[in-house]
Formats: sequence, structure tokens, C-alpha cells
Amino acid sequence: MKDDLSCLTIAQALDGLAKKDFTARELTERHIAAGQDAQSLNSYITQTPEIALQQAEESDKRRAAGKAGPIDGIPLAIKDLFCTKGTRTTAASKILHNFVPPYESTVTANLFRDGAVMLGKANLDEFAMGSSNTTSPFGNVLNPWRRRSAPDVPLVPGGSSGGSAAAVAARIAMGATGTDTGGSIRQPAAFCGISGIKPTYGRCSRWGVIAFASSLDQPGVFARSVEDCAILLQSCAGYDPKDSTSANRPVPDWRAALSSGKSVKGLKIGIPKEYRMDGMPADIAALWEKGTVWLKDAGAQIVDITLPHTEYALPTYYIVAPAECSSNLARYDGVRYGLRIEGRDLTDMYEKTRAEGFGAEVTRRIMIGTYVLSSGYYDAYYTKAQKVRRLIRNDFTAAFEQCDAILAPTAPSAAFGIGENQDDPVKMYLNDVFTIPASLAGLPGMSVPAGLDADGLPLGLQIIGKAWDEETVLRVAQEIERAACFTALPGMVSEKAA
Ligand code: GLN
Repeated sequence: MKDDLSCLTIAQALDGLAKKDFTARELTERHIAAGQDAQSLNSYITQTPEIALQQAEESDKRRAAGKAGPIDGIPLAIKDLFCTKGTRTTAASKILHNFVPPYESTVTANLFRDGAVMLGKANLDEFAMGSSNTTSPFGNVLNPWRRRSAPDVPLVPGGSSGGSAAAVAARIAMGATGTDTGGSIRQPAAFCGISGIKPTYGRCSRWGVIAFASSLDQPGVFARSVEDCAILLQSCAGYDPKDSTSANRPVPDWRAALSSGKSVKGLKIGIPKEYRMDGMPADIAALWEKGTVWLKDAGAQIVDITLPHTEYALPTYYIVAPAECSSNLARYDGVRYGLRIEGRDLTDMYEKTRAEGFGAEVTRRIMIGTYVLSSGYYDAYYTKAQKVRRLIRNDFTAAFEQCDAILAPTAPSAAFGIGENQDDPVKMYLNDVFTIPASLAGLPGMSVPAGLDADGLPLGLQIIGKAWDEETVLRVAQEIERAACFTALPGMVSEKAA
């Protein structure tokens, strides 16, 4: 049993801890060792084994005293975009290479309040901008999965939360935090064959999460089962007066809702016709179809819906997100924290610091953002994009008159090779065609692994729900999980286990 500790789900581990089959210390040691064996994935920017062991010991003491929290002793990876008090937090940027926050983000504080153990700070795309985790100055992350036909070709884990997803898929963390601005939880979850949920905008506090695009950024979680996602999300979520967009509403007991046995029977599942895009790989189209059959077999009703402004979502996002990023990233001026390159005068210092501190993708976004916000162009681009964003949201509101949840693919492809899609930023941006509309509308979305493509790579299905209705999203995801019986392991890990 003890050798298998890294293969347990969080729910199983909580059971084992409660029954004293093993201690939090043993569970944590196992994950630290697994992390050592999988260094080549580069899924962490900073590993924190000392903190983890200390937290695990405290957890064991709490449990012995009968005071264990809901996730006491569960070892997690924390995306290096969440500020962690006393532990370096870089946002995978050179500009914050030496930043040690004097405060804790609300989400991580909530996780620690409930007993979580931090294994380390997970790698990501610089400032969470990207879909491949190839823009980190700390090096790219590798996907633990490989193509059957080309096992030597390293693949991207997706992005931006690539380190989090790879760590969970490779069983070096039981779960992880992520942030999703346009797909950064759902797409890497799909690429790595795990589950990931982005809740409704406002459900999890953004306080202490390094900002990319504030009207879109939303923390969420990764895990290897839908139930585990529910368990972790439960701890992360909740009202926070320190985040002005945090919603003051009660957090439902999602785990209890999942175990209540309530099926998807009678639910109406919408299939948006605009998501049937030209050139969609046959494997993905077939899996989507399979998903509808599974849900129908479980008693759901499938309805055709329309989201007419879908084609404008990507261009809208690539105005709104860079606009907000250019404004948010103005604070990195070499004065208050992070990198400083001395210059002749103040302006020269700003310029040198920012030129040296930001990578190419971040610089591109800042330039697009300042352009669309500049006088003379503001109305033509930014204001227009805000109007289209409203239309996209209205599409969902209308669609949800006819259905309870929407089923769609998570991403238009399986994981691709490191270096592929790099030549053309627009190609990279296309990764998020299916995730961005829900982000613009602030809706909850989840990716659940549903099958493998012809080359043995995992593919995800996405469930989009009504605002604040994570419960239905989780319920539908769990039905797909049950029907898909997705038990495949990434080659790298199964080879080791064999
Ligand atoms: N890939 C998208 C982007 O590059 C989304 C990133 C995210 O959700 N953080 O902006």
C-alpha cells in the first residue's frame, strides 16, 4: 500500500489518513521522492520540501488531536502565480526572479487553513500568457505523455498552468492550483489527461494572485478525478473582501452534491453548432459525439444550441486581455520590487529594466495592449471589444434558457511538440478557441479526460455551466468520467511503475 501512495486520489488519501493507514509525512515524503525522479519534467520553478515536511508533521499532529481539516495532509503543487508568504513567487518572469512576497494569497491561505501541504511552486508561461508553457525563463515544462508513433518527441503540457498539470499527471502532486484567464486550466488539463475546473468568475479570490487580465483571471484547481477537483475547489472558494470582484455568496458542498447519487437524468445538455469548426481533427469530433451518447445514455437530453458570436471571441479576448495586461504590468518599473537594471536616469532605468525583465510574448501583449488603449484607437478597439464581449455573454444567457450545461471539446488538438506552433502567435492563440468564450462570459468550465487520440494522447471534453452552477458542471463531468473509464497513464510514469 505504502509504495502506491503517489497513485491515490485525494479522496482515497483522505480515507487512508483518517484510518491511519499512513501518515501525512509518509504521503508527503513519497511525493517529494516522486518529484525528484521526475525532475526532467521541469514542472516546478521552486521545490519546497522543507516546508512540505514541516506542514505534514503539523498535519499529523492536528489529526492525532482530532483537529484535521478537510484536506489535511494532502500534498499539492501551487502555480507560481499565487503569492506565498516567504516563498519566492516569480510568475515565471525574470522581472520577479527575486520576489519573496510578504503576504499569502487568499486561495493558498484557504488551502493551508484546511490542511494542505505545499510541495513547491509550479512552472507556467510567463505571467500566465501562453498555451504551451514554453515562455518561462526557467525553461519549458514537458508533458509526461508521449505520442505512440514518436515517443522521442517531447510534447508541451499546455499552458499557462503547464507545470501544475504535468505534476498532477505525473503523480508527483495529488492536485494543484491553476489560474484560467482564457483556458489555462482547461487546456493543460486536457493535454495532460487530468481534470481541471475554472469556477465562475468571482468564486475564488484573486487577491495575491499576480494579475494578468483582471476581468478574466480566475483561480481554480487540477486533480486526477472530478471528486478531487470538488474537494480542492471547496477549500479554495469563498468570499474575500480584499478582492472587489469576489462574490459574497455561500460555497455549496460540492463533494456532498457529487456523492448524493443525483444523476444527470433530465438535464438538458447543449451542443453549440458554432463549435463544429472546419478542420476539427476527426478524433476530437468523434469524442465529442461519444460524450453526447454517454450523457444521453445516462438520461440527459441533448439539445442543439447556438452561440452566434463565437467567431468573435478570440479577437475580442486578444484585445481585452492584452489591454488589461498592459495596465497591470505597468507596475513592474524596477522601483518597488523585482529586477532593476540601473540606467542614466529614471526613464532609462525603466526602459532597461522592462526590456531585460519581460520575455517576447509578454512584450508583444504589452504593445498590443497599449496600442488598443491609446487615444484615437481606444473606441475602435477596446470599447468595441467590450461591446462584443457583452454579445458573447448574451449568447450564453440565451442558450442557458434551453439547456443546463454545454458540452464541447476542450481544445482543438492533442498536446503538440515543443517548438510546434511557435512561428506564428495566432496559431498558438487558436488553442483556446473553445475555452475563451466561457472566460469572456465569466462562466464555470471544466475539462475532463475522455479518451485517447489515434496516437495515444489524452483528449478532454469541456463542460460549461451557468454562472454559479459549478455543481451541474461537476455532475456532468463525473458522468463523463464514469462512462469514459479513463485510466490510462502517461507513458513516462507507467514505464517507471512497470
Ligand atoms: N492561452 C491564453 C493566453 O495566452 C490563456 C492564458 C490563460 O488562461 N492564462 O492568453
